[in-house]
Amino acid sequence: MPRILSQVLKNLLRKPATVKYPYVRVKPPKGYRGAPVIDKEKCIRCWLCIRACPDRAISVNKETKKPSIWHGRCTFCGECAEVCPTRAITMTEDFELATYDIQRARSE
Ligand code: SF4
Ligand code: SF4
Repeated sequence: MPRILSQVLKNLLRKPATVKYPYVRVKPPKGYRGAPVIDKEKCIRCWLCIRACPDRAISVNKETKKPSIWHGRCTFCGECAEVCPTRAITMTEDFELATYDIQRARSE
């Protein structure tokens, strides 16, 4: 039997590698970079994250005077979390960020 046929038969008997998202959830792998979040309590306002962000997704919130991440601009590179001296920024596993609410996209 040609090799390709045996491969086809093998694949027919295998479970699919894909899942029926969003009905089936899969935990992101270790080290996955989802939405970054800032622990405002830990922030010392050094602004290193703003300087490091290649997408200019972080700005100073005029009310709180703390950094705020615009998730609509973020490309989840993780640079902000890397440079933060107090580890105030964490890359979460949250990747479901689509929203009709611009304030939610800007918040955090
Ligand atoms: S780098 Fe960290 S401590 Fe500095 S402003 Fe950003 S979140 Fe705050
Ligand atoms: S993860 Fe990258 S793009 Fe997103 S806010 Fe941090 S530095 Fe900017």
